[in-house]
Amino acid sequence: MTVRDPHGEIREGVRDLCRQFPDAYFRAIDAARGYPEAFVKALTDAGWLAAMIPAQYGGSGLGLAEASVIMEEINRAGGNAGACHGQMYNMGTLLRHGSPAQKRAWLPRIASGELRLQSMAVTEPGTGTDTTRITTVAVRKGDRYVVDGQKVWISRVQHSDLMILLARTTPLAEVTRKSGGMSIFIVDLRQAVGRGLTVRPIPNMVNHETNELFFEGLEIPVENRIGAEGEGFRYILDGLNAERTLIAAECIGDGRWFVDRVTRYAKERVVFGRPIGQNQGVQFPIAEAHIEVEAADLMRWRACALFDAGEPCGAEANMAKYLAAKASWEAANACLQFHGGFGFADEYDVERKFRETRLYQVAPISTNLILSYVAEHVLGLPRSF
Ligand SMILES: Cc1cc2nc3c(=O)[nH]c(=O)nc-3n(C[C@H](O)[C@H](O)[C@H](O)COP(=O)(O)OP(=O)(O)OC[C@H]3O[C@@H](n4cnc5c(N)ncnc54)[C@H](O)[C@@H]3O)c2cc1C
Repeated sequence: MTVRDPHGEIREGVRDLCRQFPDAYFRAIDAARGYPEAFVKALTDAGWLAAMIPAQYGGSGLGLAEASVIMEEINRAGGNAGACHGQMYNMGTLLRHGSPAQKRAWLPRIASGELRLQSMAVTEPGTGTDTTRITTVAVRKGDRYVVDGQKVWISRVQHSDLMILLARTTPLAEVTRKSGGMSIFIVDLRQAVGRGLTVRPIPNMVNHETNELFFEGLEIPVENRIGAEGEGFRYILDGLNAERTLIAAECIGDGRWFVDRVTRYAKERVVFGRPIGQNQGVQFPIAEAHIEVEAADLMRWRACALFDAGEPCGAEANMAKYLAAKASWEAANACLQFHGGFGFADEYDVERKFRETRLYQVAPISTNLILSYVAEHVLGLPRSF
């Protein structure tokens, strides 16, 4: 029995677009540590990055499930959705918690491509994963907040116009819940950089444009606060669940790319008078990677369905990200291994995708922290921190 793919048209549309940006395009961008500007523009012009924006604001009004298919197909085609996935999950935060005035002000311009909302600033150098201890503060002064502090690993800042910022508005010592007292803001990067915000790029292993941010008296108008003061952590969790689910989909796209490439190569490469893929020592790791990618995909759909229904999906989003990142990493290892020496050559693209998919064991949340979440919040084991 076959089940019709409900997202077939989206897949086809994104694949068509990706065909205009072949491996050589992403390879050259990677070598130059550049930004795939033409690709992101084409995605925007075709409306794919406005998928989650409601039709009344100029988007297509689709859900996380459809957004995840778009991201998956980019990675499956050999590209890297990391250049533009921020817009999808940041959108969720604005859609669910922004005021009607904020949505009217930002969404139509994001949908048209006039503005990009690609960045979200949460991580800090001193606190890492322990988010409730962030020290970046936003102090209310009349009709403005004044922000001081530091963030690290904040991606796409140089290619975004807007950024969602998490900052403390009430000191940790004065709140009853440690997740309380934080707020989120939309920062207009075009006005902020050089006027209280300094951006310092971090060269890194993947071609992922990411930065240190220094806030020194940055002023943000009160109307740029999203939702109620002090509730920002709760709002941002929605965005984080969307982010984890979308990245699970990207890992599934990567995993399928690795499995396709290594299968093709193992059929063609002849050593000892037969294709290497005829050896079970080669077949089994590839088959295992395929099974794990497909299994991870099932959890991804469950996370999408819950998110789109507005139901709690923390467990499923985390589990989907865990399974998919693990599966894509296993697939990457098999793909590199069975390409032998050629796996290390730039022109095969395996080493590039290998580096790219490795990131997802660490960011946006490390594997250990997912295990800890499941142990404590799903299984009720005693808290370790
Ligand atoms: C390329 C890149 C892009 C990024 N983009 C963004 C972005 O746009 N916005 C943003 O806000 N952040 C971003 N990040 C940050 C990312 O989310 C963090 O790096 C990640 O959450 C891990 O935090 P950390 O690096 O501070 O590690 P730490 O919190 O210092 O942890 C270090 C290691 O210790 C382990 N560890 C820590 N505590 C425990 C524990 N209790 N039990 C077991 N293990 C533990 C972790 O699993 C991890 O492996 C990005 C990071 C990278 C590398």
